[in-house]
Order: sequence, then structure tokens, then C-alpha cells
Amino acid sequence: MRDFAAELEQRRDQGLYRQRREVDSPQQPELVVDGRPMLAFCSNDYLGFANDPAIIEAARATLSSAGLGGGASHLICGHHRAHHELEQTVASFTGREDALFFSTGYMANMGVISALAGRGDTIFSDRLNHASIIDGCLLSRARIRRYPHGDTEALAEQLAGTEGHKVVVTDGVFSMDGDLAPLAELARLCRTHDALLVVDDAHGFGVLGEGGRGSLSACGLGQDDVPVVIGTLGKAFGTSGAFVAGSSLMMDYLVQKARTYIYTTSMPPAIAAASTASIRMAMAADDRRAHLRNLIDRFRRETQAMGYALMPSDTPIQPILIGGAAEAMALSRALEGHGIWVTAIRPPTVPQGESRLRVTLSAAHTEAHLDRLLQALAVCRQEIGLTAA
Ligand SMILES: *Cc1c(COP(=O)(O)O)cnc(C)c1O
Repeated sequence: MRDFAAELEQRRDQGLYRQRREVDSPQQPELVVDGRPMLAFCSNDYLGFANDPAIIEAARATLSSAGLGGGASHLICGHHRAHHELEQTVASFTGREDALFFSTGYMANMGVISALAGRGDTIFSDRLNHASIIDGCLLSRARIRRYPHGDTEALAEQLAGTEGHKVVVTDGVFSMDGDLAPLAELARLCRTHDALLVVDDAHGFGVLGEGGRGSLSACGLGQDDVPVVIGTLGKAFGTSGAFVAGSSLMMDYLVQKARTYIYTTSMPPAIAAASTASIRMAMAADDRRAHLRNLIDRFRRETQAMGYALMPSDTPIQPILIGGAAEAMALSRALEGHGIWVTAIRPPTVPQGESRLRVTLSAAHTEAHLDRLLQALAVCRQEIGLTAA
């Protein structure tokens, strides 16, 4: 049998050991973590909806009328009116004909990718795609060709040299870097090479585009350009679950073929109702997006002036690039000493030598919260002796 204990020990030695912290408050900037107050800059609650009273009330009302459990899968007897209403809301929000509600973004990627490609087909996947996309590709049993991050020239060559059914899959906003995929060029390439484009915009919806309609909307791309778009509801929308949107034909196909939609219990209808309320609120949240924009701009300006290395990101995901896993952990711990929580992201989540502090900003952060982060970053730089990036 494998020596599991030794593997754990090795992880510890390499500074790669992962630990969970216990939160004892709703998700919001000011958390109680392991019994201690902390100011967090690491959640994906970009609009501050995770503890929003109106969204909670939508869930509560539906708990009263529809009860708690989903009861069965959508195709048995678990497809509730609240699920249907959410799917209709998502369809109109994303400008697509129809949508499906999945239990998580992870399940959506696994189910959608493995339904749309199979043995003998080829999937082209950006090297920095999310783990759930990678697993969806593996599950499909299709041939997988990874292309260098955002490199449309390399992708064009790969596409030109491949016969048969082709699927290109990418994050819209990359989850650990915060940058955008070259979506317009990807759409053009897919059209030229008769490939199906699938975009997972987990971090774009709610934040980017007019009314928070995501990175595709921000690039002016519609259903004809990107036939399949995936979004999660657990990030900017502050609830739980995920959606896939596209043509009625495509959604019908997925209902027949996406195993993670078919063979799992539907989400509680109350979660669907909360998500419907949340999407409606997100469309009207221009004030929150403007505030978030200001926080992002100020964070970038002031941390770069201190000498920190940021990444080319224009989104609420603002990683501070450190390099070594141990150094990233040291900065995370130093910040914690000042009551600030930013998790260090290390391999294998990011490539070797690219460990970072993944700072995320939220419309729920105030200017005073950002003051505290910036002050702590200035002091911690000295404390741990960071010089160059
Ligand atoms: C978070 C994330 C997912 C997974 O979504 P969940 O609903 O949390 O399972 C999928 N894709 C990307 C790009 C993500 O960042």
C-alpha cells in the first residue's frame, strides 16, 4: 500500500500542505475565523450578495411554499417550477434561448464537456483552464490538446491540423490570474474551423458587461458566436449551483446527454428562487459594479507603487505574484498577523514558481477596508523582507 503519511509529510516540507479554516459568520468582508475577527480579501462574493437580506428572503419564502429537498433528479420528479423560473431568467439574462440549472459549476463543466465531445473527437483547452474543465475533458475520453494560455496562433495551428468534431473550451475570466480569454478571436477561429466554442464565465457573470451579463456580453458576442456558456451561481450571485445557456436545441441535447444533470438530485427549489432573485438584483447593480471598479483601480495603483508585482488583470481577481510557495505562505501569515485574510495559492493550482496571494475585491468592501489591506501590505513587505518580486 502507498505510504500516505509520507506523502503528507513531503507536502508539508515543500510548503504545499493545505488546511481549512473555520468561519463562524455569514460570508462578508468581516469574518469570524477560528474564533477571531478577520478582514477577508479572498472570497468570490464580488457583489456582496452572499448575505443579502432580499436574496435570503427569496429563499425563505420558497422554503415555506416548496419545502426543502429537491426530492429526485430533474428527469424523475425533481424539476420544480422554481427551477424552471430560474432557467428562464438565466436565458433572458444571458440572451440565450434556453438554460439548464446544474448543482455546481464543477458538475456543469464535467457534464457539458463530456456530453459535447467523446471518443474520436478533439477538445482544445487553454493551459490555465479551471480544474473542472480539465476533469470534464478527461471524462469525455476525447483527445485533449492543451494550447498555451491565450495563444490563438498556436490554437489556430492545432485546429487546422485536426480532422473531425472539434470543441474549444476556455475560462472567460481566468480564475487564478483574473485576465480575460481572447474571446472575439476564439469565436472567429471556431467559426473558421467549424469548432464548437464553450466558455466558462464563472468569474465574469455579475461583474463584467452591461448589467453584469459577463465577459461575452462585454465583447459583444452572442449565442451564434459562443453556442455554449456556463456560469456559476456561487460567486458573484452569492447563492449556489450553476447554469449552462445556449440554443433550445443544445439544451435539449444536454438534458438527454449530460450525466451530471441527469443522474443527480435537483437542487433545493429555494436555492433556485434565491438565484432568480439574485440575477435580477445583479442586473440592476451598476452602483455596486462602479464601486468595485474604483476599489480595483485603487488597489492596483497603490500596491504597484509599493513594489508588488501584479498580473495583467482588470477584474476583481488581483493576484500578487510572489514566486516561491514558502514566500507566498510567509506573506499570507504576516497579513494574518494584522487581521487580514488572503489565501496563498500554490502548485498544483498554479504552475511551479508562480505562487501568489490571490486578492479578490468585492463591492461589499469599503474604502476603509481597502485602507487596512494596503497598510498591512506595506508593513508586511518589510516584516518578511520582500524586496524584488
Ligand atoms: C469556481 C469555478 C468553477 C466551479 O464552480 P462551482 O459552482 O464552485 O463548482 C468552474 N469554473 C471556474 C472557472 C471556476 O472558477
